[in-house]
Amino acid sequence: MNSKTSILGSIISGTCPRCHGDQMYVNSNPYVITQTMQMHEQCGKCGLKYSIEPNFFFGAMFVSYGLAVFVGILIFAISFLVLKTALDTAFIAILIGLILLMPIITRLSRNIYIAMFVRYRPDLEK
Ligand SMILES: [Zn+2]
Repeated sequence: MNSKTSILGSIISGTCPRCHGDQMYVNSNPYVITQTMQMHEQCGKCGLKYSIEPNFFFGAMFVSYGLAVFVGILIFAISFLVLKTALDTAFIAILIGLILLMPIITRLSRNIYIAMFVRYRPDLEK
């Protein structure tokens, strides 16, 4: 399964969920903070309109919450259980980790959310 055709690859790379052929975001680097949320209106290859309905990506907030909790637990486990840091150090690590990973979490949650509604169509990929 190559990364261009897998749904997981599309979620990670931020490509169109229907054809996996075009980037959804104006800037592929999520750490350009002014452009983290900026998306193209529609796919340049298959024409899919990314904002399926008004305020469509509002729902991605719930995915973002789940991802942030998962990442927080992961950082806590690494910090407190593996590196044996103090409890307050572990919580500071969670805070810093979540702030640093915020652009990635935001984009991943949008990509996961749109992938829940739009099916991949291999016939559109060329
Ligand atoms: Zn497309």
